[in-house]
Amino acid sequence: MGRIVHVNGAYVPEEEARISVFDRGFLFADAVYEVTSVLDGRLVDFAAHLARLHRSLGELEMPAPVGDDELLAIHREIVARNGMTEGMVYLQVTRGAADRDFAFPADPVPSLVMFTQARALVDTASARDGIRVVTIPDIRWRRRDIKTVQLLAPSMGKMAARKAGCDDAWMVEDGFVTEGTSNNAYIVRNGTIITRQLSHDILHGITRAAVLRLASEAQLRVEERAFTVAEALGAAEAFITAASAFVTPVVEIDGRALGDGTPGPVTRRLREIYVAEARSAAI
Ligand code: PLP
Repeated sequence: MGRIVHVNGAYVPEEEARISVFDRGFLFADAVYEVTSVLDGRLVDFAAHLARLHRSLGELEMPAPVGDDELLAIHREIVARNGMTEGMVYLQVTRGAADRDFAFPADPVPSLVMFTQARALVDTASARDGIRVVTIPDIRWRRRDIKTVQLLAPSMGKMAARKAGCDDAWMVEDGFVTEGTSNNAYIVRNGTIITRQLSHDILHGITRAAVLRLASEAQLRVEERAFTVAEALGAAEAFITAASAFVTPVVEIDGRALGDGTPGPVTRRLREIYVAEARSAAI
């Protein structure tokens, strides 16, 4: 693949990048991450991703590896070194290497790893045709608002979706949809956009915040509340949001087509508005 990746201050070919086997990210999933999308070689919603990174670090009492200006500089440098115009920058901060012990080390030296993933984000088949989702039980821990790398439950969810011949899974707890395996979930009923309210139960999506703001500015009605699978099955439209998916239509849930089975008008409009805004505000 030949990428240049960033590891603790050094830019190295990906096959030369190394992290200790004692790194707590490896041993305990004691690590947080961010994924920032890149359009036209520029970073989308960087300030919001940085703010959430600090929140995740704070909740886990984990020190930041470098200052904010340097984080921005590294993001830009890695995009430039890899000649990436469209795709994602992945950032991971771990509590660093220490002899294996459940308790946090007294003086952690955090690790910083960053790499790029070039891929089309705007012109995609899922944006055009929509995706199909299945519902599965939400078996994750209770602090989903912290963006940690313990992603085995979502990985298993994606595999369950694949086995069902679908693209993704929506996770359900106490009868209500929490979110998608790697995205926030929305339905549209009677012209109103409905998505679960913020709490410890879901990740506070950066794309979610932007889309809800843009929806209000476009005079679309928004309700932040939990919805059931039955409500979702009766919805006119559904969609997901994530940094790597923007606004992506959902056209089928548990084998049942929504509306006429094609991306709905509210979803298409929101995606258009979001992509235009993301492009113009990217830094
Ligand atoms: N929910 C979960 C569980 C996620 O993993 C993600 C993204 O990775 C999101 C929501 C969407 O968040 P964002 O819009 O910040 O990418």
